Amino acid sequence: MIVCKFGGTSVQDAAAIRRLGDIVAARAAERPLIVVSALARVTDGLLQLTRHVALGDLGAVDVGLAQLVERHRTVAAQLPGAAKAMDQILDDAAILLDELTAALGRALTAREADALVAHGELWSSRLVAAALAGRRLPAEWVDARDVVVTDGRHGRAVPQRDEIAARAAGRLLPLLDAARIPVTQGFIGATGDRVPTTLGRGGSDFTAALLGAALRAERVEIWTDVDGLMTADPRIVPEARVLPAATYDEAAELATFGAKVLHPATQLPLVKERIPIVILNSARPDGAGTTITAESPMWSEERPVRSISFKRGITVVNIRAPRMLGAFGFLRAIFEVFERHETAVDVLASGEVSVSLTIEDTSRLEPIIEDLAALGEVWTEPHRAIVAVVGVGIRHTPGLAARIFAAVPPANVDVISQGASAINMTFVVHEGDGPDVVRRLHRAFFP
Ligand code: ADP
Ligand code: ASP
Ligand code: MG
Repeated sequence: MIVCKFGGTSVQDAAAIRRLGDIVAARAAERPLIVVSALARVTDGLLQLTRHVALGDLGAVDVGLAQLVERHRTVAAQLPGAAKAMDQILDDAAILLDELTAALGRALTAREADALVAHGELWSSRLVAAALAGRRLPAEWVDARDVVVTDGRHGRAVPQRDEIAARAAGRLLPLLDAARIPVTQGFIGATGDRVPTTLGRGGSDFTAALLGAALRAERVEIWTDVDGLMTADPRIVPEARVLPAATYDEAAELATFGAKVLHPATQLPLVKERIPIVILNSARPDGAGTTITAESPMWSEERPVRSISFKRGITVVNIRAPRMLGAFGFLRAIFEVFERHETAVDVLASGEVSVSLTIEDTSRLEPIIEDLAALGEVWTEPHRAIVAVVGVGIRHTPGLAARIFAAVPPANVDVISQGASAINMTFVVHEGDGPDVVRRLHRAFFP
């Protein structure tokens, strides 16, 4: 079997869902499992409702929800058979409106917010399943909350792989064996007690990988709006090129440092069984895309870099120890602070007297600074960006740092770090300088 995941733009309107139908039809003999994201921008729209609720603005909640429903209705009306999906969508929306009305004037809990945003994927999957059935493909809607079991960390739930494998075998395999085409939701899951959860933004890729691993797929296809993994984000570097191949490690590093095309955890469930990920453009389905596997595709000393990524919204936290003596205990104490506040550190660099770390999530920054102040002098630098230069050739290529840092000026570099795997060089610049730095690096490495 194979998994075909379609991102938001690949289901954004009737034309996109028609193309999805063509892609699925062409793969029917390979026993596809379909995983879909919400229609483009719908997750943002649902999150926007939480703000209207908190402000007690019933009018805005009402209008916002009605617009979201209308988008689905417009799509449904243009696809044979898809109108059937609207009954469920309208019922859900009515219940949702009651729930949101009851919560007016307060912040939704993380648990409530998860139940709310889950509707994006629940609705898109209803539309897609109905549209596939409408063109006589044997599609069957499956509730991912029956399969994707997670812990209860709302907004960034951790999947329980063994339980998912058991449930996928029980719920999805019989359908595939009966030549049915299951259509399920990315991004969402539920706890063992069936409380809805989500895997974090962009999490549909991760769902596809989890299910692909559980069912030992031949490959996991990620259908999106670009031709594959590229040498840089084409929105920043228009001349970026498609990579025919990359390794799991390269893809993971690029995703961690801003390449939104893949969720950073996507490769995790697939490495052990060596299941390839193929990134493809749903608007140009005949392209070869990018195949991501364990094997390192060709690289050369002239071309040690595979791709350059860039992540905005980074804050640097610096800690200067009174004395760097007992450095090990000092680092451990620092990490304990970040762990206690459940805040992930992306890049770490330590100098002789100070340590610099980068974080993205600043929701716990104040208590973190308070705790760190017990260890030394602390100062922060907001509005930074991480630039990551990634490639398996990096570890074998001397003199690369010089080539990289020749391309950075006139921008300033704050923190420099080479990952433990040595397939990346990452550094921090001012957010506003980031795009230019990426373009200069791209010119230097992909002339
Ligand atoms: P989907 O909705 O299909 O999941 P995303 O918006 O999450 O799609 O990811 C696709 C986007 O990722 C592209 O439109 C592109 O702008 C961005 N992107 C960032 N870095 C890269 C890269 N190195 N290669 C390809 N796309 C990238
Ligand atoms: N719809 C979710 C999001 O916008 C998940 C995804 O698209 O992968 O983050
Ligand atoms: Mg995505």
